Amino acid sequence: MLRIMDIIEQNKKRLSDAQGYNEIWEIVKDNVRAVLKQHRQGMMLFLDDFPLRLGAYHPLGTNNIVLNRALTQVVAAITKSQKSLNALIYTLLLHEYLHALGHIQESEVRSLVYKVTKNCLGQDHAATRFAKLGPWSLLYGLPLDNLKGPKRVMEIVKNFEATNEKYIA
Ligand SMILES: [Zn+2]
Repeated sequence: MLRIMDIIEQNKKRLSDAQGYNEIWEIVKDNVRAVLKQHRQGMMLFLDDFPLRLGAYHPLGTNNIVLNRALTQVVAAITKSQKSLNALIYTLLLHEYLHALGHIQESEVRSLVYKVTKNCLGQDHAATRFAKLGPWSLLYGLPLDNLKGPKRVMEIVKNFEATNEKYIA
């Protein structure tokens, strides 16, 4: 049997090595299933540009998560770290996934994000810090309102739930 510390190390490595939204998404779903025993299939991810103070949102009653592409690009440019970017995307997707699982209240979702992240990635991980302080702790001191980029068209992330394809005969 794996020790908790080994599981945390595995999760950390998996997240920092993740390539693309779909791999991060699989980690989010596995972690939620492990900690909260909840699962939902068939979500879709869209990317759009919003003011930087918004991370992502889930339109109630849909299968959709819309992620702020402008925010991920600013964070990528500032941190120059795939690891930090993956941790940010993990935190944002986890938050919206919990909404999609039926947790409506913000305060409840925030504390569940913290619980899942701390249990799966450990107290010291960047994602756990984002869960506690908000992902904007990365951008502390920056003039967020002046960092606006161009508004581009919304795009869908292809093969976001690629592993589902095996269920479709
Ligand atoms: Zn929320």
